[in-house]
Amino acid sequence: MTAKIIDGKQIATQIYAELKSKISTLPTSPKLAIILVGDDDSSRIYVRNKQKFAAETGIVTELFHLPANTAEQDLLQLIDKCNQDTAVNGIIVQLPLPEHLNTHRIINRISPLKDVDGFHPYNTGMLQNNEKPYFIAATPLGIMTLIKTVTPELSGKNVVIIGASLIVGRPLATLLLNQECTVTVTHIHTQNIKELTRKADILVAACGVAKLVKNDWLKPNTILIDVGINRDNGKLCGDIDFDDVKEDAAAITPVPGGVGPMTVAMLLQNTVDAYILQRSAL
Ligand code: NAD
Repeated sequence: MTAKIIDGKQIATQIYAELKSKISTLPTSPKLAIILVGDDDSSRIYVRNKQKFAAETGIVTELFHLPANTAEQDLLQLIDKCNQDTAVNGIIVQLPLPEHLNTHRIINRISPLKDVDGFHPYNTGMLQNNEKPYFIAATPLGIMTLIKTVTPELSGKNVVIIGASLIVGRPLATLLLNQECTVTVTHIHTQNIKELTRKADILVAACGVAKLVKNDWLKPNTILIDVGINRDNGKLCGDIDFDDVKEDAAAITPVPGGVGPMTVAMLLQNTVDAYILQRSAL
């Protein structure tokens, strides 16, 4: 084993300690509204996890758990209510939503000042323009923090991202481009993907295919960030075949204990930032 393990859990624990200390100086507790529609098992676990760490950090959460057949108009009205409620600092709608609901229309209804998931077009657009958004999506933000622990200077690095989703691949590509990286975004239709991944100084796998990336996809000494959360024979694993790559990689995030803990920590950091931002605007 030569690869350095990038310990996301430990870094997230430090962030929680800093947030806790910052929150203890605030006059009131920051508050996060979480909207969950339906009973998707994974979504319920993610929401429970966010509530647990929020409570430990000193952030109040209010969960609005709506039935799967909720009408879009009712959901939009709830978002309007949370937008207007000055006690609510951050609003997230747990994705994916049931199919009858238009995700874009719903996300676009959240006030950009409370959009702590960073999905609103104001925030994604500002990021695209290389201006300062109010909020950046938690998973890419966490990944940037993890990468910088092993390579603080990113200018000129070749980065390949596997996966082009709106919540991971695309915003991450923009963040890296804004840091002067040369970024290649690959996806399910990419031809000869290995030819591209073999050029990477940093490879980020975010495609949701268990153990897709093998050692022969990589040049030696690559920094590997594994975003995937999959099950292989019941055991949690990432999109990178950890055992196959661990001898030759420079560094790697484990699954579990890498990107996952950072995502929740960044969401809570965004919520504290939202509180401060909204109070400074008073
Ligand atoms: P998604 O399904 O929205 O997008 C997957 C992307 O991967 C698409 O662009 C698709 O074209 C591409 N892809 C799929 N199969 C591929 C293949 N064989 N080769 C190349 N590209 C391929 O997924 P998502 O929401 O971005 O999530 C991706 C993975 O990351 C999932 O396992 C998810 O559970 C995980 N995830 C983890 C966190 C975290 O906090 N750790 C956060 C978000 C997502």
